[in-house]
Amino acid sequence: MIRENFLKEGYTEAGNSDEADVCVVNTCTVTSTSDSKSLKSIRSGLRKKDKCVVATGCMINDRDLDLAKLKGVDFIIKNKDKYKIPKIIQQSLEPSALSPQPSGSITWFEGHSRAFVKVQDGCNNRCSYCKVSIVRGRSRSRASEEVFRECETLIKNGYKEIVLTGICLGAYGRDISNSVDLSRLIKELCRIKGDWRIRLSSIEPKDVVDGLISQMRSEDKLCKHLHIPFQSGDDDILKRMNRPYAAGDYIGIVNKLRKAIPDIAISTDIMVGFPGEEEANFQNTMTFIKEIRPMRLHTFGFSKRIGTPAHSYKDNVASAIKKKREHALMDAVKGFTKEFEGMFIGKIARVLVEDKRDKDDFLQGYTDRYIKVLIDGPDSAKSCLLTCQLTLTNQKAYGILLSYSD
Ligand code: SF4
Repeated sequence: MIRENFLKEGYTEAGNSDEADVCVVNTCTVTSTSDSKSLKSIRSGLRKKDKCVVATGCMINDRDLDLAKLKGVDFIIKNKDKYKIPKIIQQSLEPSALSPQPSGSITWFEGHSRAFVKVQDGCNNRCSYCKVSIVRGRSRSRASEEVFRECETLIKNGYKEIVLTGICLGAYGRDISNSVDLSRLIKELCRIKGDWRIRLSSIEPKDVVDGLISQMRSEDKLCKHLHIPFQSGDDDILKRMNRPYAAGDYIGIVNKLRKAIPDIAISTDIMVGFPGEEEANFQNTMTFIKEIRPMRLHTFGFSKRIGTPAHSYKDNVASAIKKKREHALMDAVKGFTKEFEGMFIGKIARVLVEDKRDKDDFLQGYTDRYIKVLIDGPDSAKSCLLTCQLTLTNQKAYGILLSYSD
């Protein structure tokens, strides 16, 4: 969206950061590592002479941000004004040269075969470790007509997969009216004709409601893959995290999903080393993961974020222990990934091919269940939805190309 608004104002995209006149750093503050990476990018922009450096994103929205760290930055722009960055720059240079209204929509998505469409921002939950809900504010949804138009354009422009994203995607529509929700939005979007599919980026457990489950089963365009962030499988830790669930609730949701769609792909996030996470708490998470058997897992270590309740929690877990726990979880999940992929070997699947080949020059892409597949095929198949038969060689899934649609 930032890129498109610059292009609409007549700017051209630089081939690399050395050539750029304006350098926009869209910061992230979800962990302390994100803060460091954002500041590193800003400093790298500032090191280059005669550049206009713009800092925006969640780190900028953080009330506790030490502004001294942004010394030299030309424009510091809050999230709410992100969509008018070129306009703000132009106004400061030439106050009279006002441009047409910038937009918050996108029509293409650089370097990706799938397009990410943000339908919602903000979150009304208050997980005790989370800074995102603080910097992004309460949940706000985009009008469904606007989302529909954006998806229609992207599909017309050749995108074969739309990923619906949001900070709390399942809250979509609640701030608009009782009759608008994520299921209804999906239903509307699925009316857009063509050979394309839709994926949900991440959804909170409580938003995996019966309506969505039956839609996952019946709607052909909807990828049978849900990423549900569980964060922990220990009830005490979940309580301290201010997550409104117990591990048993999670297991109930997963069982319901698997009863409706036995081969659904379930992936998750687990945070390790939350303050007070003793070995026994961690072992509960380990047992939980073995019960859930996710096909993919993202782990990360707790980091203190100023302004969150967990910032003052004691009983910090040493970094070495956090790393050890992350590895233990990842090792456990490797087997589940293989087991899940094994269910599809010999079967026919649709694979959306990415723009870049893998290191051995194979095409690479993902099935609707988010299984990574390597294919020996022509460049013309990039960004296409291929129909393949899956095989397994050297522990990797390969696709025998049967046909493709571009
Ligand atoms: S649901 Fe997600 S975004 Fe909302 S407070 Fe919890 S972790 Fe943060």
